[in-house]
Amino acid sequence: MRSTFLPFCRPSIDDADVAAVTAVLRSGWITTGPKTTELEESVGTRCGAAHAVAFCNGTAAMHCLFIAGGIGPGDEVVTPSMTWVSTVNLLELLGATPVFVDVDRDTLLASPEAMEAAITPRTKAIVPVHYAGAPVELDGFRRVARKHQVALWEDSAHAIGTRFRDEEIGATGTGIFSLHPIKNVTSGEGGVFVTDDAELAARMRRLRFHGLGADAHDRNQQGRSPQVEVVEPGLKYNLPDMNAALGVSQMKKLDLFTARRDELTRRYRELLADVEELSPLADPTWPHRHARHLMIVRQTDASPLSRDAFMAALKARNIGTGIHFKGVHRHAYYRAKYPDAGARGRLANSDWNTDRLCSIPLFPDMTEGDVQDVVGAIKDAYAKARTSVPAGATP
Ligand SMILES: *Cc1c(COP(=O)(O)O)cnc(C)c1O
Repeated sequence: MRSTFLPFCRPSIDDADVAAVTAVLRSGWITTGPKTTELEESVGTRCGAAHAVAFCNGTAAMHCLFIAGGIGPGDEVVTPSMTWVSTVNLLELLGATPVFVDVDRDTLLASPEAMEAAITPRTKAIVPVHYAGAPVELDGFRRVARKHQVALWEDSAHAIGTRFRDEEIGATGTGIFSLHPIKNVTSGEGGVFVTDDAELAARMRRLRFHGLGADAHDRNQQGRSPQVEVVEPGLKYNLPDMNAALGVSQMKKLDLFTARRDELTRRYRELLADVEELSPLADPTWPHRHARHLMIVRQTDASPLSRDAFMAALKARNIGTGIHFKGVHRHAYYRAKYPDAGARGRLANSDWNTDRLCSIPLFPDMTEGDVQDVVGAIKDAYAKARTSVPAGATP
């Protein structure tokens, strides 16, 4: 057994990252400034987005997007239940109604057809998730959005570096990347909004910083115009340069990180191929480049362990795991508010995965030995579970 704990995720921070942040600390300007602009340029250039706006986190960017999109009471927004809670929490806070759709059992991706079927005259937007770094079938989503005149907002939190066919995620349309420490590239905390809509980008910049006609950085460069006025009520969601500098430094390693994640994923798949107790997620059938954000496995019917028992067994063997995610409709608040959301098998695949999935360690600094430790611990956990429960006994 490992003598040290292997977390399911650890950011890859090198000397260049440390030097980049230190330089900002010594520069005399530590909040939103030139490094934030550089990060916006870096992400925008990388994915080919016409406009990129950095935020203090992805959720903050989404909050401003929902405000910019006029989401409020009486509006419906269609989202998979298999997503992070940010989307649905924001809809609740704005008085709008989340409409949950199910996902594919083995990719956790929502389909354009499922989302289209959930559209009503009150629908304002659809928010698919590029789950675990795999792209949804974007052509179909674009068709649905055009046909029904609803906004298409991509939750690209897992998808920096992902491609749908030959197209980088973020190159067209509107989406949000997260730079949280567990994501593939991090700025400590952070998010980047990308869009091809110039007007929307300008509105997002304004909403990000008090609704002022110019943000802190502009004011600095223009010698701080103290006369700048509130054009509309906004928020205080700007990203400090201390964080942006880390993001800029990390963006330089995006392709290296992705290649390493891809290698580790392939190795896991080889070593787990004969483990019938586990089912890793499948890749989409359409052409894509996967960002390999998470290594998600599900307990099959052949597993002697429940998901929670599996996670405990790995923890006892010094291996960390995470849950990405529990269907939002299964969280306490949403169970109480929308008790019928998952009724009659409407969210059957989300429920199946909610009960069975967890993420095993995947991060670029992992070694071949780490992967073998994880697989060894998994096999050992199943072997022990089998011998401790006599055949025929009810566990
Ligand atoms: C991480 C994440 C977010 C939110 O990003 P933050 O930067 O943590 O606010 C949104 N959606 C999904 C699917 C995520 O995984």
